[in-house]
Amino acid sequence: MGLMDGKRGLILGVANELSIAWGVAQQLRAAGAELAFTYLNDSLEKRVRPLAESLDAKLILPCDVARDEDIEALFAELEKAWGKIDFVVHAVAFANREDLKHGFSQTSREGFRLALDISAYSMVAVTRCAVPLMNPGGSIVTMTYLGAARVIPDYNIMGVAKAALEASVRYLAAELGGRGIRVNAISAGPIKTLAASGIANFREKLRVGEERSPLRRSITQDEVGKATLYLLSDLSSGVTGEIHYVDGGFNVTA
Ligand code: NAD
Repeated sequence: MGLMDGKRGLILGVANELSIAWGVAQQLRAAGAELAFTYLNDSLEKRVRPLAESLDAKLILPCDVARDEDIEALFAELEKAWGKIDFVVHAVAFANREDLKHGFSQTSREGFRLALDISAYSMVAVTRCAVPLMNPGGSIVTMTYLGAARVIPDYNIMGVAKAALEASVRYLAAELGGRGIRVNAISAGPIKTLAASGIANFREKLRVGEERSPLRRSITQDEVGKATLYLLSDLSSGVTGEIHYVDGGFNVTA
């Protein structure tokens, strides 16, 4: 018997096999969950489709979270195919490389808007469309980073976007708790992914994490996957509105 037997849910944010969302998907499937995936555009579809199919996914759908109509169409497809869902994993973020390179005060108005829209507002929009389909006991998890709570060099506008995301998690949790739906975030330590390649001096962040975290090493996608499995399963039935650190303890010693 798997922890997620009989449960169905959506994973947003697989770009390739390095994606945190892919680590999450593997853990969920191994625990018995049935998964649906999204991809951002045609070139990513070529990467995502074979990965999703390798986990027996039948629903592999396009979604640009900047577009309400995409999000609405996505959940309409899920409703048609499944009726109800049990969980959503939101592992999506974006900021212009330009806006991450210079001092924070140089962030453009459009760059600020874009980072907040894709990385924080999308969680609100996705949750709004997911809720009508969710079974009681449903759970939603998003991915954040310590740069929301502290100044991490070079994280800049993404830190502000993650702060908005973390506050959104608390407000969504408060609104939806009465309906039996839980909303949490995982704050992961640095992992080499496509998105991480946009952060300047990323290797340095890995090195500092390895040196200063209590576990003295970087964490893996699988470890984020296992923590997400906990937050999506009944094991965490009393947990909502939390920022759950999976960073080898770095946040307590940094
Ligand atoms: P990734 O590049 O593999 O994943 C980011 C995903 O966001 C991609 O699948 C991309 O297609 C998607 N995306 C970007 N814009 C989109 C849009 N408009 N519509 C739909 N999807 C869009 O990188 P990752 O590191 O796995 O990132 C996943 C999440 O984890 C992000 O929220 C990221 O901020 C967070 N995170 C990453 C780290 C890290 O060190 N890698 C640490 C903490 C948190």
